[in-house]
Amino acid sequence: MHEYPITQHIIEMAEKYAKEQGAGCVRTINLVVGDYSGYVGESINLYFDIIAEGTLCEKAKLNIERVKPKLKCTSCGEYFERRPFSFECPDCGGEGEPTEIGKEFYLKSIEIS
Ligand SMILES: [Zn+2]
Repeated sequence: MHEYPITQHIIEMAEKYAKEQGAGCVRTINLVVGDYSGYVGESINLYFDIIAEGTLCEKAKLNIERVKPKLKCTSCGEYFERRPFSFECPDCGGEGEPTEIGKEFYLKSIEIS
């Protein structure tokens, strides 16, 4: 449910940007959402359609780029995707530690016209 305010915020930012650029509408919003960001892309998409109504984003397409979380091996330094119930590095069998990869949440770009 906490995707509602963040979606509102995204739309506000896109609208502000379009107005600053003197554009008539927002065409595409590219958003990057990591699986560990705490936000669910599907929910943002759902709210987007509702909140965007009557704004410059009304006809905009929301592209959500998902980022899968990665671990970093403490032995060989390799980045890898975690398998279920395992932190083991697929290369050397070393132990993986969490990284910032997968926690991303940002507006990548806005296309206007
Ligand atoms: Zn390794």
